[in-house]
Amino acid sequence: MTDYKGVAVSPGRVIDPVKVMAPPVAEPPLNDSLPEGEPRETEAARIAESAAAVKADLEKRAEAAHGDGKAVLEATAQMAADPTLTTSAEQLVRTAGMSAERAVWEAGDQVATMLEGLGGYMAERVADVKDVRARIVAHLRGEQAPGIPFSTERFVLAAIDLAPADTATLDPTIVSALITSDGGPQSHTAILARQLGIPAVVAAKGVESIEPGTVVYVDGAAGTVTSEFGDRERELSATWYELVKNPLTYSGGGAELSDGTRVPLLANVGGEKDAALAAEANADGVGLFRTEFCFLDRDEEPSIEEQAAAYAGVLRHFPGRKVVIRTLDAGADKPLPFLTDADEPNPALGVRAYRTSWEKRSVLENQLKAIAKASHETSAEPWVMAPMISTLEDTEDFVSMARSAGVERAGIMVETPSAALTSDHLMGVADFASIGTNDLTQYTMAADRMLGSLAQLNDPWQPAVLALVGATATGARVAGGDPEAFGDGANKPVGVCGEAAGDPALAVVLVGLGVNSLSMTPRSLPAVAKVLSTVSLADARELARLAVCAPTAAEGKRTVRAKLPIIEELGL
Ligand code: PEP
Ligand code: MG
Repeated sequence: MTDYKGVAVSPGRVIDPVKVMAPPVAEPPLNDSLPEGEPRETEAARIAESAAAVKADLEKRAEAAHGDGKAVLEATAQMAADPTLTTSAEQLVRTAGMSAERAVWEAGDQVATMLEGLGGYMAERVADVKDVRARIVAHLRGEQAPGIPFSTERFVLAAIDLAPADTATLDPTIVSALITSDGGPQSHTAILARQLGIPAVVAAKGVESIEPGTVVYVDGAAGTVTSEFGDRERELSATWYELVKNPLTYSGGGAELSDGTRVPLLANVGGEKDAALAAEANADGVGLFRTEFCFLDRDEEPSIEEQAAAYAGVLRHFPGRKVVIRTLDAGADKPLPFLTDADEPNPALGVRAYRTSWEKRSVLENQLKAIAKASHETSAEPWVMAPMISTLEDTEDFVSMARSAGVERAGIMVETPSAALTSDHLMGVADFASIGTNDLTQYTMAADRMLGSLAQLNDPWQPAVLALVGATATGARVAGGDPEAFGDGANKPVGVCGEAAGDPALAVVLVGLGVNSLSMTPRSLPAVAKVLSTVSLADARELARLAVCAPTAAEGKRTVRAKLPIIEELGL
């Protein structure tokens, strides 16, 4: 087997056999009918047989699954047991002489249209019908069922990429690593892998062609996949599985550096469910609440009451703690029909995020009112910030709107090079800043963060990105009047809430650059705390200097990681 090199997006080292994700089921040709004289009754009977087999398979999988995955599989099995689809398909075979595959496909369309017409809960079942239809067609053809292969034994999942719908049924105790040929560091696969703590390599061209059953060594920190491995790799993988069995934990109160300096570790959340998990993981608060995640499926602006209830749901989990609420970051990969223009030619550079308030002022005003209302109903400490701020005028406008709505702490996200380089002015007005390294990287490197083919550029280890992080922290200290200020007590705090904060080695660099809190997926809290505990603030500053002065991202990363032995020890 050839070796594969991709982009490392979630650390960990495993050795397991590969299973390949089946490609989506292709639509049977339109004129796929039975040859003259072929008995239609026999063909129709194949449909019931395949439907029964699909139902039995889904039930078996549901039995072995837990949580959300179990519920999804149970609902799909129920749909497979519903005779509406199979009866209409059998009818099409009998009356129109269609092949069983074509008949199931068309009957699926009919049922989906009917459910859509009924609206509400029924319309939400359309995806289940299409899934069941694809499974029956695959079974009729003798093909592998679509989606994540079923197994009770551990395996490495190889795929072109994962779709959000695939992921609910992904069991991290069975899928030991994810390797995909598409996807970048911000792809769905990468984010999911980090959330679940599964080692992952993306943008590794050709991995979906690995012969199923091949035993491979995946290094999620190095971004490599190979079938050539020896005792050293076996040892490293054993250490990883030991760590999976006895995971590190985070007890809260901030990561403690070796000199006693404390760095609060916060969580990124998208709603109440995430907030509950973050509180359970002992996060010191929330560093990024992506409020748009609550309303991604909406055509209309949600009412103030509904918004307040959603925000209070998160605030409630952190009494007396800091919760950074970000106002709607609509646009680019997260369009909201009531705020953004679907026809913009270049949405990542368009009227997105805070900029939508220039035209549609009331949406931001209403959201700020909803946040103020939610704050009164709970005892958390809300900090409110706007995404995609570029200028002093943006900052003044947002801060004044927030103050008028009764928000006490109003801040900005630093996601553009412009905001980073003028942060001394912006932070003279804003109470705090949070650096969104995902967007800051894409705008600094002029590389679409959604494109797997640009993954090498979209790397927060890029020295230019790190220099901008440093410039933001320096600007904040200048604006706060205390160039030595550090920690959340600094009068102009600067956090990082992009994915960079959850990379333990990069977290050290960020702290060294003067960032005083880090926000990440709760899964990353223990490893970040552990690695930070091995350095002093002076060490972190030295490592930051090495990373910023490095000629390339790869060299900076290599140099810093080599100086943090704990990283190798834990296989991070
Ligand atoms: C970022 O850009 O780093 C960020 C945290 O915001 P989002 O990923 O939601 O754009
Ligand atoms: Mg962003």
